Amino acid sequence: MAFKAEYIWIDGTEPTAKLRSKTKILADGARPPVWGFDGSSTNQAEGHSSDCVLKPVAVYADPIRGDDDVLVLCEVFNPDDTPHPSNTRAALRPVAERHAPQEALFGIEQEYTFFKDGYPLGFPAGGFPAPQGGYYCGVGADEIFGRDVVEAHLSNCLAAGLSLSGINAEVMPGQWEFQVGPLSPLDVADQLWVARWLLYRTAEDFGVSATLDPKPVKGDWNGAGAHTNFSTKAMREGYDAIITACEALGHGDKPAEHIRQYGSGVEHRLTGLHETAHFSEFSYGVSDRGASVRIPFQVEIDKKGYIEDRRPNANVDPYVVTRLMVDTCCSALAD
Ligand code: ADP
Ligand code: MN
Ligand code: MN
Ligand code: MN
Ligand code: MN
Repeated sequence: MAFKAEYIWIDGTEPTAKLRSKTKILADGARPPVWGFDGSSTNQAEGHSSDCVLKPVAVYADPIRGDDDVLVLCEVFNPDDTPHPSNTRAALRPVAERHAPQEALFGIEQEYTFFKDGYPLGFPAGGFPAPQGGYYCGVGADEIFGRDVVEAHLSNCLAAGLSLSGINAEVMPGQWEFQVGPLSPLDVADQLWVARWLLYRTAEDFGVSATLDPKPVKGDWNGAGAHTNFSTKAMREGYDAIITACEALGHGDKPAEHIRQYGSGVEHRLTGLHETAHFSEFSYGVSDRGASVRIPFQVEIDKKGYIEDRRPNANVDPYVVTRLMVDTCCSALAD
């Protein structure tokens, strides 16, 4: 007897990496072994020295194939056993470990947009639907496009064992969101990548594509972000730590350093309109969806909880945003 293991990895496509996967047949009871692939086909190697190495780091039930089949998330290594330059998970590992005593937790809100025949789902060919206003958390065939795909994706994520905390229809037609977490830095990022893979794979069966494009339609249409909610043990216990984290994110070169790594095209989304703060200005505030970082109203009432960094793009690498936030905030909180 045998089972199927879908090896999933993140490639070297610039400026936004793509997910890749391929199947290995394993004997019953086998642990997914180290494997390899042709890096010259994924922007990860030259043709004359093309081997890249796949090291399994997390295994999930495969809800698409079912039975005993699995999804195997991997890190990419060079043949000399050094992490490949595209392997951003390797850079997160030591940072997460250094600050592990602070027990950082993340919940990431992944926004995305469905496309079919070159248009966002719900957009008439060559034209535009009614302006934004009724679509967010809407109901009915005049407002909702792609719910069958969204429901199938949610069920698949839960069957895989991923910690999704919710879904909602977004402000632009054809745009949706799911939330992963709260989880540790490595877990939230691993699970978000696998949830993205399941999104593409689920939509494939409906003849629909999903994109993380941060500004899929120019003009007066909302962009797609990946609001990153963050807390440490101290933040979950008191308000001083909440303020310390906000101040750390706004200190010195930190805003520019973070923005630069918050996803390709972030300056096209962070215009200061459509519930964003302009990318050149850092601000934080209670309940303020026009701020870079929002303190939820309940957190101000309870005087403890978490903060929401609203800047990351939908196409951000979760290994990068979690590394930056842990590094910046946990270093400040340790002082
Ligand atoms: P909104 O759309 O109002 O910004 P959502 O409900 O979409 O908020 O997302 C809130 C996110 O915050 C969820 O992913 C949730 O898991 C996460 N979250 C809740 N509590 C914490 C916490 N203490 N630390 C980190 N993330 C948290
Ligand atoms: Mn081949
Ligand atoms: Mn949300
Ligand atoms: Mn949203
Ligand atoms: Mn949000």
